[in-house]
Amino acid sequence: MTSLKDRYKRTIDYLRISITDRCNLRWVYCMPSDGLIPLEHKEILRYEEIIRIVRIAAEIGVRRVRITGGEPLVRRNVTHLISSLRNMEGIKDLSLTTNGILLSGLAKKLAESGLKRINISLDSLRPDRFKEITRGGDLNLVWKGIEAAEEAGLAPIKLNVVPIRGLNSDEIGDFAKLTLKYPYQIRFIEFMPFGTEGLWSPERFISVEEIKSIVESVGTITPVNVKRSGPAVYFRLDNAPGMIGFISPISNHFCKECNRLRLTADGKLRPCLFSETEIDLKPSLRGGAPDDEIERLIKLSIEVKPRGHNIGIRSSELWSLMKNKECSRRPMSRIGG
Ligand code: SAM
Repeated sequence: MTSLKDRYKRTIDYLRISITDRCNLRWVYCMPSDGLIPLEHKEILRYEEIIRIVRIAAEIGVRRVRITGGEPLVRRNVTHLISSLRNMEGIKDLSLTTNGILLSGLAKKLAESGLKRINISLDSLRPDRFKEITRGGDLNLVWKGIEAAEEAGLAPIKLNVVPIRGLNSDEIGDFAKLTLKYPYQIRFIEFMPFGTEGLWSPERFISVEEIKSIVESVGTITPVNVKRSGPAVYFRLDNAPGMIGFISPISNHFCKECNRLRLTADGKLRPCLFSETEIDLKPSLRGGAPDDEIERLIKLSIEVKPRGHNIGIRSSELWSLMKNKECSRRPMSRIGG
């Protein structure tokens, strides 16, 4: 079977696809308060274009695909995309990341279309706070979505939490305790510096080391070996049905094991989340280019994939990167988290 290797001998087999830049929430740390001007409809890749890219990528070694956004569930007919990708030759794993707001009405259809598992972003368990940090979101809808996902048999259910000091960091223990009741994977992800109205600051950043020590105040945690866990390191509280994962893109970056490419909603392949380098596929896709040309561009994006990002944990370093806009200029909602 073919595999794709980059210059640093990493196997690149994972493609994250943002299918829309639109979102039905406006997280304070993810989007400016007045939202973003949405891309014009014609700028966004059509499903047939996405399917073609995945088919070509699968022929040369991509094995895993994640659908994300913006908010993927706001795009019409997302189940059509899922069912087109589920049986594509070469693709072994298909997943989706959502904020869960529309999930209760879609979970069953997603599962029937062939989706097996799902990640849900959830940064507060308190309705008032959730409303505040999403600028109007209803936590109850997310819970209904999570329940619907469980009922539809999507598993594992992963809940992604970004702890931010002074915003939701006092809920780390409560999130960890959820694993005592539910079979979910609660995954704590370090807050990354993206250009969002200055919410990011070194003072707000909490390292996985600190998050872990707060979790340990809830109870003893024991490492768990999880196959294909990606960058997450997993633990379990005694007798808990669920697990706790830690993901440290900043304090202990996993660039050495990075296996991914990102496709933005407007058709740009982005080899590294933290680098502005992008390869635009749209002119070729819409200019009648043969598959060989698309394949060449995919390979090119792998060739230019950087060895890693230089963001370290030292505050001064992070701060100056932000100030100099050396971190991503596109907000996360525009890249596809
Ligand atoms: N709308 C979907 C959702 O909410 O899951 C998918 C897109 S959202 C951009 C994907 C993920 O990116 C979310 O889990 C969010 O928490 C994460 N994210 C956004 N900005 C981030 C940041 N600055 N640092 C860490 N994670 C971030």
